[in-house]
Amino acid sequence: MSGINLVHILCLLVFSYTVASDSLLGSRRSILRVIDNESNRGVHGDYAVDLNATNFDAVLRDTPATFAVVEFFAHWCPACRNYKPHYEKVARLFNGPDAVHPGIILMTRVDCASKINSKLCDKFSVGHYPMLFWGPPSKFVAGGWEPKQEKSDIHVIDNGRTADQLLNWINKQMGSSYGLDDEKFENEHLSSNVSDPGQVARAVYDIEEATSTALDIILEHKMIKPDTRASLIKFLQLLVVHHPSRRCRKGTAELLVSFDDLYPSKIWSFSNLEGDDGKGALMNFQICGKDVPRGYWMFCRGSKNDTRGFSCGLWVLMHSLSVRIEDGESQLTFTAICDFVHNFFICEECRQHFYEMCSSVSSPFNKARDFSLWLWSAHNKVNERLIKEEASLGTGDPKFPKMIWPPKQLCSSCYLAHDQRSNKIDWNQDEVYKFLTTYYGKTLVSLYKDKDDLGSDKSASALEDLVASTNAFAVPVGAALAIAIASCAFGALACYWRSQQKSRKPRRTWS
Ligand SMILES: Cc1cc2nc3c(=O)[nH]c(=O)nc-3n(C[C@H](O)[C@H](O)[C@H](O)COP(=O)(O)OP(=O)(O)OC[C@H]3O[C@@H](n4cnc5c(N)ncnc54)[C@H](O)[C@@H]3O)c2cc1C
Repeated sequence: MSGINLVHILCLLVFSYTVASDSLLGSRRSILRVIDNESNRGVHGDYAVDLNATNFDAVLRDTPATFAVVEFFAHWCPACRNYKPHYEKVARLFNGPDAVHPGIILMTRVDCASKINSKLCDKFSVGHYPMLFWGPPSKFVAGGWEPKQEKSDIHVIDNGRTADQLLNWINKQMGSSYGLDDEKFENEHLSSNVSDPGQVARAVYDIEEATSTALDIILEHKMIKPDTRASLIKFLQLLVVHHPSRRCRKGTAELLVSFDDLYPSKIWSFSNLEGDDGKGALMNFQICGKDVPRGYWMFCRGSKNDTRGFSCGLWVLMHSLSVRIEDGESQLTFTAICDFVHNFFICEECRQHFYEMCSSVSSPFNKARDFSLWLWSAHNKVNERLIKEEASLGTGDPKFPKMIWPPKQLCSSCYLAHDQRSNKIDWNQDEVYKFLTTYYGKTLVSLYKDKDDLGSDKSASALEDLVASTNAFAVPVGAALAIAIASCAFGALACYWRSQQKSRKPRRTWS
């Protein structure tokens, strides 16, 4: 109980400070100014990404790609200039939003003739130009290479003098059959692998992509209105505490801090804020950091141009939130998600169906488990409808047919009984919940954690990261407030809810 009081007192202090501190307004604007729109992609329209001593570690740490190729060259070297078209031919396949095979290999280059890079090139013992290395991106971070090193995850590409030879070398390493003439969504190498739980680790990048895409859609379509504003704030408060990506938590905190300046609650101020482009004051705001949206999907990539993608990313985001909340946050999370879909999901049929399912819930949630299972069951109801629709219209993705989920290959213990004829499944809900929490919890962020040691998902750690990540005084103070306010909004209401629910018994079961 004393913990609850402390939370409330902190809320009040934080709230008073927000109201009182006029100087913060200026600071909040500066937050948006420090969010630059700089891209790490190659300059001059090249596909290969230009790296230097400053961005080398960050780009290789943050890429979703499984492998990286790093070319060390010198801009004055004639052989390097001649080699460039070959390297670019291969980079076209793997880099950028129009990549034929995105998110698999990151093709990069470092100009060793640039003074800033000399130490970096020394670390990799670059003895001739061009010199190419191959390895998992994380192994390049703060890494190096020496010719006499016996065991290394970084390998010199010794036979990549032409585009053909380079791609052959890569194909040998990966057991793949990429071709220089491959075109997007033709010769698709995707395999659906529904039975591999590890696949979901790639989905954390799609959750970032979906978060960023959702905000873009909201701004593009001028969807922040006096009557939708509150539901967006509620959803952002949920994200700032429970989004599985630290980058997105950070960006959401920054957005929340500035939100009232950008979209004031006073109805009459709204019309002055939107620029001609519709994005208004948030035009350059990238909620999950400067590399997102990347322009492609990983776990949610369809085998056809018009399948999967954003709506898949949105589902995965919602499931990942549902397994991260506390019991006391379950009703708030339910309303935050229902209202967000209702107000901001631009697919009319989807939002209506989903809202009907939300509206049919008769008693409030007081267990995270119940909400998580409700969302799972609601998603399965959509799947059930789409199995029939897609079969009759032929609109589904042939490599990712809809199914009642999880299939037995993913979770056999989730099934108590399965009547094949009627396709009726008797679920073991304890096992389903256990599976959901592992799948959308630990497994989802496993790749991400390996990469940059995210630590705990608690708001305190997001705040620590934030403080450590910037030397601008205004950012930590402002963001601290955002995180505290968000935690308070969820924490205090959760506490209140819990106290109201103490004597009430849950009345609902989910089938
Ligand atoms: C809120 C919402 C409502 C929608 N309503 C409609 C609609 O009415 N009509 C329509 O045509 N489209 C609707 N869609 C889109 C549709 O559900 C799919 O997202 C889209 O067709 C892409 O399908 P997908 O194959 O990528 O898998 P998705 O259904 O998007 O699922 C993404 C991933 O989630 C996992 N998954 C699947 N089922 C479950 C489950 N039950 N619980 C947990 N995880 C699961 C799987 O790994 C799957 O690959 C809706 C989307 C959303 C977000």
